[in-house]
Amino acid sequence: MFERSCWILFFFGKILVCVHGWGPVGHATVVRLAQSQLTPEGLERIAPLIPWHWNGNLSAMASWADDILYSDANPTGYGNWQWSRPLHYINVPDWNCEYRPERDCINDICVAGAIRNYTKRLETEWDDIQQREALYFLIHFTGDIHQPLHTGFVSDRGGNSIKGHYMNGSYLTNLHSLWDSGMITTRLRRDFGSNSTLYYEYIHKLMLEQSPQEDDNTIDAWVKDNVNIVCTQIYLDENNHTMNASTNFTLGEAYYNRSISIIERRLAQGGRRLGIILNRLANKRPIKPDDKDKTLCTSTIVLIAVLAAVCIVGVVAGVILWIRYKKRATQSISFNLARKT
Ligand SMILES: [Zn+2]
Repeated sequence: MFERSCWILFFFGKILVCVHGWGPVGHATVVRLAQSQLTPEGLERIAPLIPWHWNGNLSAMASWADDILYSDANPTGYGNWQWSRPLHYINVPDWNCEYRPERDCINDICVAGAIRNYTKRLETEWDDIQQREALYFLIHFTGDIHQPLHTGFVSDRGGNSIKGHYMNGSYLTNLHSLWDSGMITTRLRRDFGSNSTLYYEYIHKLMLEQSPQEDDNTIDAWVKDNVNIVCTQIYLDENNHTMNASTNFTLGEAYYNRSISIIERRLAQGGRRLGIILNRLANKRPIKPDDKDKTLCTSTIVLIAVLAAVCIVGVVAGVILWIRYKKRATQSISFNLARKT
């Protein structure tokens, strides 16, 4: 069974694409790997943003960005979050096999742009709610961008429309779902007794064996890797025939065996790179309200000084006018008295 079902929703008359990235196990693994890499400064930066009831476990928020989109997990608020749906993926033209940001991620409305924007927000927004929201989006989208079918072909919605049977199952699944969670579930059940902690420990070991790459800080390079995997591996079935939305696939051991190592490499890379991003945030903190108050204070003092100067000038002018008025009044009385005498 897959960890969660994937529905196509109708919202405001539009067909909305299922956008789950890795299933909960994959997303939680990426975030847990990242958290294991945090320096004391990185942990000190991130810890206050984790909801207190999760006892410092950031991976508990790994699927928040998916959960908010669906009525089963967020029955009253899911409509308010539909704007974030395109931030989970990138669509590339079918078999173009090339990622071009100016064509595929216009105005940064895609998963690569979202990672950039939410990292920036964490560096600049001091507001606590904004910080938390940005962090929960960032940890999820860094997972999504390492699921290669989140850079899938536009016509089949990243493999969501390509359906078929997997491991002789009687029910229809789809290619996207197999990469999100189907093959991870097979691996967990077969080799780890369905114990996700043991699986995490295995991927953690893989991550430590990975050597740092030049691409670790280049988000667009991660997308290019996806496109390469998509074009050379994912859309080819066990007989190297191209899969498409018009014919149901039949996939089993051969496809699983050649895909699971890619999935696990991408999970490890995602965790390692997210750890790098989070540690970097420790050195780029937004200006806190206290600091802003100090800046405001200086301007307020200048304003008060100007107002005080205006007041003093006004008072002095008033006194002068009053003295002149008094003088004139005295002269007038003396003049009238002189005329009477
Ligand atoms: Zn997602």
